[in-house]
Amino acid sequence: MGDSTEAERTLGVCVHCESVYAIRSWPNGKTRPIGTPRNCPCGECEFRVLE
Ligand SMILES: [Zn+2]
Repeated sequence: MGDSTEAERTLGVCVHCESVYAIRSWPNGKTRPIGTPRNCPCGECEFRVLE
């Protein structure tokens, strides 16, 4: 992981509708989908990182 503060590209699942998206995950816990609006189409904006 090193000292990088850049976002990690990973997979995340919407906590509401369980749709899976490619997301960016920051060390501080922030997540954001890649290539889509910041919210899931279902209206949720929280994603759980898939390990
Ligand atoms: Zn959703």
